[in-house]
Parts: sequence; C-alpha cells; structure tokens
Amino acid sequence: QVYRGADLKYTLDISLEQAANGFDTEIRVPSWENCEVCHGNGAKPGTQPRTCHTCDGAGVVRMQQGFFSVQQNCPTCHGTGKEITDPCTSCDGVGRIRRNKTLQVKIPAGIDDGMRIRSAGNGEPGVNGGPPGDLYVEIHLKQHGIFQRDGDDLHCELTIPFTTAALGGELEVPTLTGRGAITIPEGTQTGKTFRLRGKGIRGVRSSYPGDLYCHVSVETPVRLNEEQKKILRQFETSLQQGGEKHSPNSQSWRDRVKNFFS
Ligand SMILES: [Zn+2]
Ligand SMILES: [Zn+2]
Repeated sequence: QVYRGADLKYTLDISLEQAANGFDTEIRVPSWENCEVCHGNGAKPGTQPRTCHTCDGAGVVRMQQGFFSVQQNCPTCHGTGKEITDPCTSCDGVGRIRRNKTLQVKIPAGIDDGMRIRSAGNGEPGVNGGPPGDLYVEIHLKQHGIFQRDGDDLHCELTIPFTTAALGGELEVPTLTGRGAITIPEGTQTGKTFRLRGKGIRGVRSSYPGDLYCHVSVETPVRLNEEQKKILRQFETSLQQGGEKHSPNSQSWRDRVKNFFS
C-alpha cells in the first residue's frame, strides 16, 4: 500500500508594505531524512521487519459492518504491510528522522491575508515510496498603524482640526508609496470620505491597483484657555446672528427632536 505524505501548513506573518510590494524570504520547515542506523526500514540493526501478521502484508484489512465488507487501514502496521518487532532505537522504528531545512519562498506582490502559497513536495514524506505531501505557506497580514486593507482598497482615518474643516485647506496624507495631498473644501464634515485613485494595492490577480479612502474625523478642540473660550463665545454669537444657515444639520436635527416630542 502506497500513501501520499500529509500536507504541511506554515503561517507567515507579513507587513502591509511587504504584501503590497512582494518579497523573497527564507523559512525554516521540517524535513525528514532516512535513519542512518536502520537505513530507513525501522528495524534494529541485525533484525529485519516481518510481514505484518494482521494483514499478511497487504496493509489493509476487511471489516464486516452489517451487510457490508469495509476495507480499512491495517491497525497494526498502519498500511506499511511490515511489522517491526525490534524497533530501531535511533528513530523509534519510524525509519526516518525529523530535521529542519531552509526553504526559499517568493511572496508575490499584492498577496492578501489568508492566501496560501503551495510549495510542491515539501510536506511530509509518503509511506512505502509514495509521493510526499505539499507545504502550504499561509499568509497572515499584520495590523498596520495607519491603513486598513479591504481587498485591493486601503482605508485610513484622517483627523483634522475643526478650523481646517470649516475653512478648508490643503492637507498632506500618507500613502503606501509616499506622501499625497488632498484639498479639504470649506465646510467639510466628519464622515466625509476622500478617494485617492490608484493609491491602494494591486492584488495578485488585478490589472490595476485599488484606491485609498481617507475618512475624515473632525476634532473638537480641547483644554481651551480663557482667552480662547472668549473668542469662541464671540464666534458663537456671530454664528447665531446668521440664523440657521451656518449649522443646517443641527437645525434640522433640533426640528426632528421637536416633532418627536410634540
Ligand atoms: Zn532507525
Ligand atoms: Zn498490517
């Protein structure tokens, strides 16, 4: 009975920048060598593996289950067809010894969290000369301090002072490829989103990069001194003289609350 070896999984933590640009890396993975003491047959030197007495060397046994006869892996020899009465002490009768090896892995640009890279033949060895399994390198994307990734798009929060939000202005924003700039129009509110085309990530199977979305959050000033509070109160009075036109959202919200209670 010939069996293919089991697949192995290796989790690789990478940064957003590494995912965006791709990179070459080395990983340490388990590998197996034939045991030098028993030359891979698992029997103590001077002894030989015997034909398994349970399955007569077939590696499988037939079990009666109701009307059906079911074929199963032999429980004694686990499919090898050989029984080792005197196991090799160096490898515990397994016939091989686990070591580690270094593997070169190429991470393609645009790879995303949860994607897997297959490294053929680098899994566990097969049984009775069967082919080895494969190694799967599973990508785990580390959290980024500024950007959140959503497919090919990136999102970031853009906290701006309320004066900039009110007056408008040019603002520097970070992108994965360097500094970018956006123009904040007068009267920008919290929740407003600015899209920077092509400043996202080009996915592994994408022909063009995604976009970067900057989500505005207006910051209310804190720890004002008396002078600043005085100016703000004067400013407030000035706003009230303009009626509801300076704060249309607040006015409509107050109207809705009034209707709710009436
Ligand atoms: Zn051995
Ligand atoms: Zn057996």
